[in-house]
Amino acid sequence: MITFQTFASSSSGNAALLAAGDTRLLVDMGVSCRRLCQALSDRDLTAGDLTAVVVTHEHTDHVSGLAAYIKKYATPILCTPGTAWQLQRRLPAIGALLRPAELGKAVRVGEAAVTLLPTSHDCAQGAAVHVAAAGGSVGLLTDTGYILEETGRRLLGVDLLVLESNHQEELVLAGPYPYGLKRRVLGPKGHLSNGDAARYAAASARAGTGTILLAHLSQENNTPQLALETVGGALEAAGWTGRLAVAPGGEAGELYTLERTVCGE
Ligand SMILES: [Zn+2]
Ligand SMILES: [Zn+2]
Repeated sequence: MITFQTFASSSSGNAALLAAGDTRLLVDMGVSCRRLCQALSDRDLTAGDLTAVVVTHEHTDHVSGLAAYIKKYATPILCTPGTAWQLQRRLPAIGALLRPAELGKAVRVGEAAVTLLPTSHDCAQGAAVHVAAAGGSVGLLTDTGYILEETGRRLLGVDLLVLESNHQEELVLAGPYPYGLKRRVLGPKGHLSNGDAARYAAASARAGTGTILLAHLSQENNTPQLALETVGGALEAAGWTGRLAVAPGGEAGELYTLERTVCGE
């Protein structure tokens, strides 16, 4: 069985807990150590119970709690070599904890197989995450301007897809962001729009995905209703009968449970 819960999901902070048996992976630590401990304690866990922390990339909204965390806990940190380099540059003490993993190669972490996959984002070497374990498969895809072919292919049809639905393009264009920031958000190294999410969600739904959780919504250029309408419309047109939801931005979300038995990765 796999359980999955977001603790925060927005442009101001991201963290999620994926548990497979006794293996507990925190994906990103873009919340304070205090908030993390509170969220874990609501699940009867402590920060020392984490098996590993997976860091998708070095942007603050994904790593803000790390500096305080590594002062107290020696949990291994899994990330791409490029992200490892960036983290070590900022936090020299993190070096001994880093476990750089090549993109596309599965790494065994306790009862889970974790594969980092490439993204297109304005960071050193960002990653999407595929996790397979007894119970099913989870794909996490946020912080990418577009979906790279290899990543899209690998995550297609996962049981639970956590998919960025960052902004509504019209709202970015009409909004108060300076021109450079608008270009960044909408560009090939920015973030997935509701329309991008809708297209990939529909493809993944056709490939067998049962639950889609929209994530990393912009607080300025999106609303949960708008994201649900856009992606939900595409899923309805694809005849999908699965479950679609939005991860709350600043608080812990619902607990998702996967119980399918899968072979291999
Ligand atoms: Zn982010
Ligand atoms: Zn980012």
